[in-house]
Amino acid sequence: MSVTGFNRPNLTLAAQRCRADADKLEALRRTLNPGAGRALVYCATVATTEEVADRIRSWGLAAAAYHARLGDEARRRVQDDFAAGRLRVVVATVAFGMGVDIPDIRQVVHFHLPASLEAYYQEAGRAGRDGQPALCLLLWRPADRELQQFLIDKTFEESGTGEAAARREHALAKLQTALAYARLGGCRHARIADYFGEEGAPRSCQACDNCRAGDRREAGEQAVAVPQLRAALNAVKRFSGRIGAANVAAVLAGSDTKWVREKAWVRELPFFGALPGWSQERVRDLISELLVEGLAAQSSGDYPTLVLTRRGNEVLAGSEEAQVSLPPPPSNLPQRGRGNALPGDPQVFEKLRRWRADKARALAVPAYVVFSDRTLAELSTRKPASRAALLTVPGIGQAKLGAYGDELLILLSAL
Ligand SMILES: [Zn+2]
Repeated sequence: MSVTGFNRPNLTLAAQRCRADADKLEALRRTLNPGAGRALVYCATVATTEEVADRIRSWGLAAAAYHARLGDEARRRVQDDFAAGRLRVVVATVAFGMGVDIPDIRQVVHFHLPASLEAYYQEAGRAGRDGQPALCLLLWRPADRELQQFLIDKTFEESGTGEAAARREHALAKLQTALAYARLGGCRHARIADYFGEEGAPRSCQACDNCRAGDRREAGEQAVAVPQLRAALNAVKRFSGRIGAANVAAVLAGSDTKWVREKAWVRELPFFGALPGWSQERVRDLISELLVEGLAAQSSGDYPTLVLTRRGNEVLAGSEEAQVSLPPPPSNLPQRGRGNALPGDPQVFEKLRRWRADKARALAVPAYVVFSDRTLAELSTRKPASRAALLTVPGIGQAKLGAYGDELLILLSAL
């Protein structure tokens, strides 16, 4: 197989367990963002590629399905349109990708559990060939295993001969490696390095969902208490599809805004002021997390409104659990470098902040996952000029140095 090495820190690896295909579509809608590049979505069946491609087009992205049932001519057209950038997203079965070497694929999303970890990494590895950050997301649900097993049985049905039976067993064992990867609680980069026999790989990284969850805990992130989370979900539900995040935040914080004064009855709602003492900004952070966790969704358009998703409803009903955490409030942050208004050199800080926002958008993660405010503050104060100096900044380890070091040095030297 053709894999270009296993140490690729520019790839963020993540997996998300979903309850139903509708939840996968919702997760895909939230995540899919080819940025200035392109994105690939892999599905296990032809029917799903067509369905998902339709859905993606309804979100306003130029997308096409690609599978073995298309004629040669149609397949070539999809490949050409994708290479030329007329198509931003291709939704493909495994038939796509042979000989495809497009450098700026920013996201590879799997819509089903793949047949094996080899297959997964070969497909996911098509992301970020230009060395820039890219996301490899595996959306899966337990029923995917049965789908793959069905496909395996179809391949090896008939002949009860010893050879076919052995090959079927082998395929099932391979399927198990994909399932184990999906359910992994440890470092995904380390798992892949181990699987492919790469020795001496670090045991943790800064570019997989599991390691980042650990980082977030270490960074002092605080779980939102259940009554507060429920109040937020209830507020979104009560106004679902009618008001935007700012007004929901005003209700939760019990703010005396113009809108609240005009609608005096909202003060009577049980969740009015349910987050007393929270700054408007922190309530907005909480709402952002509801979006990231798939508990709420935002409509498109000029005046986006919040709606409660099915998962949000299930959490309210108690049939599903969710944990939402937020960065520590500013008063808990170390004071050093924070200054009174803006830390360090405000101009540099602002430049770094914009750069971080671009990165976060490209990776489809919250900004503080790229770097914390504190790290940006330290960078703007110290303005490090070498890789060694970067490493002394809190929040920058080997992985982040590898992923962002050169860009940061160029950015800082240009200021
Ligand atoms: Zn990791």
